[in-house]
Amino acid sequence: MSILALFMLRVRFAPSPTGFLHIGSARTFIFNWLYARRHGGTMILRIDDTDVERNTEASLQSIYEGLKWLELDWDEEYRQSNRLDLHRASAQQIFAQGLAYRDFTPAAAPAQSDGAWLANPGMRELSAAESDRRAAAGEKYVLRFRVPRESEGGEVAFQDLVYGPQSKTIADLEDFALLRSDGTPTYHLASCADDADLKITHVIRGQDHLSNTFKHLLIFDALGCTRPQFAHLPLLVAPDGAKLSKRRHGPVVSVTTYRDAGLLARAFINFIALLGWSPKDNREQLSRAELVESFSFEGVNRSNAVVNFTEEEPFDPKALWLNSQHMRSMPATDLACYVAQELAHDGIPVPFPDPWLVQAVDLLRARYITLKDFAQRGLPYFTDEVVMDATSLERLTSPARVGLGTLASRLAANPEFTDATVEAALRALAAELGLKPGVLINAARAALTGQAAGPSAFHLFTIIGRDRAISRLRAVAE
Ligand code: GLU
Repeated sequence: MSILALFMLRVRFAPSPTGFLHIGSARTFIFNWLYARRHGGTMILRIDDTDVERNTEASLQSIYEGLKWLELDWDEEYRQSNRLDLHRASAQQIFAQGLAYRDFTPAAAPAQSDGAWLANPGMRELSAAESDRRAAAGEKYVLRFRVPRESEGGEVAFQDLVYGPQSKTIADLEDFALLRSDGTPTYHLASCADDADLKITHVIRGQDHLSNTFKHLLIFDALGCTRPQFAHLPLLVAPDGAKLSKRRHGPVVSVTTYRDAGLLARAFINFIALLGWSPKDNREQLSRAELVESFSFEGVNRSNAVVNFTEEEPFDPKALWLNSQHMRSMPATDLACYVAQELAHDGIPVPFPDPWLVQAVDLLRARYITLKDFAQRGLPYFTDEVVMDATSLERLTSPARVGLGTLASRLAANPEFTDATVEAALRALAAELGLKPGVLINAARAALTGQAAGPSAFHLFTIIGRDRAISRLRAVAE
C-alpha cells in the first residue's frame, strides 16, 4: 500500500438497526477498528437506517450500548436517513446514463423485502418516452440497475483481501433495485453512494455480503468513482456449523450477554478477534495495543469460525479463559474499577477508589474467572454475608472453634493488626493448644469466608478487616 493510501485509509462499520448487536457485527466493528488504528486511518460509524419498516429505536440503542461497553472509539458518525438526497442524486446519476430503468410492475406484484419487485423483463425495454410519461402520470416504480446482458457482458472481478480473486459473469446478476417504489434507496444504492461519498478505502464486512460486492462494483463504476478494496470476514457459526442466529441459538449471540455475564470488554475483544484471525506467532492473550500492532488480513482465515457453546455452558471456554487471564494480568487498580461497578450493579456498596479494594481484588483475582465471581464468590469479602460450605463446616471442629475464640480475644487485645501479627498469634496459639497450625489456619479461613478454598489465610484477615474478622471468629466460637 502506498504511503498516501495508508494516510487516507478510511473504513466504516455500517450496522442496520434492525436487531440487537450481534457478536458477528461486533467482530466486524472490531476488525474495522483494528485495521484503522493499525494504519492511522479513520474509523467511521454509519448507521444504515434507510429501511424504516425494519428499524427500531431499541436496536439502535443496543448498538450504542454494545459499542460503549467495548470502549472502542470512532472518528466520524453518519446516519443514512440524513443522506437520502445524496442517495437519490446518485440514483439519478446512474439513470441519466441509461444504466438504470424504471420498473412499473403493477402494485399487485408484491414488493420483496429488498425492494426487488417480481421480475418483468418487459420493463427493461420500455421506451424512454413511455417511461417518462408513466412516471409523470404518478405511476409508482422501482428503479433498477440495467445489468449488461450476455452480448455486452464480460466479468466483474475483484481481489478480496481475505478470499483472494473473485469474479462473476455479469449477465448472471439480476437487475437489482436501486430505489424502492416509495422512493427510498435500497441497501445496495445507499451503501455504495455513501461509501463513495465518504471516500471509504476499505470495505470490511461479513462474508455473507461477498455476493453483493459484484453488484456494488457495478454501482461504483456507474458512479464513476474509485472502487474501494474489499475484505470479507469468515462467518461465525455454532458448533453444529449453523450460522449463529438469535432465533436458533438464543442470547449467546448478543454482545450484551457477554457484558452481563461479567466479561471484561478487553477479553471479549481478544476472544472475538481470534474468531477468524490469528497473529503470526499464534499468541492467544493479546491486549488491545497488541491486537492493533499485529492485525493484518493475512492472518484472517477463510473457513468459518466456530463459537463453542452448549446449553449447559453458554460461553465459549476460550472467552472465559481469556477473561481470567486478562483479569490476572491487567493493573489491579483498573480491575478494581470494573469490580466496583459490578458490585454497585448488584447493590453492594464498596469504597471507590480505595487501596483496600485494590488489595482485595488483587488477592482474589487469581481464583476468579469473571467479574460476577467478585459479586458472588466474593460476598464474604465485600459484605457481612458468610455462607458456610460443607467442607468449611467440617473444618470447624470443636477444638478448632475453641481455638478461634481465643484467637479472637488475642487479636482484640493487640492494636497492631497485620499479616505478620496475625500469623504470629495464630501459630503461637496452635502450639499452646497442641494443634497443627494447618488445622487452625483452615478453620480460620472457614470462619472468615465460609469457603474451604481461598487466598492465603493471613492475607484474608487483613482484607476482611480487624473488626469483621474478630466478630466472625467469635461467631463460630459461640
Ligand atoms: N447494513 C449492512 C449490514 O448490516 C452493512 C453491510 C456492509 O457493510 O456493507 O449488513
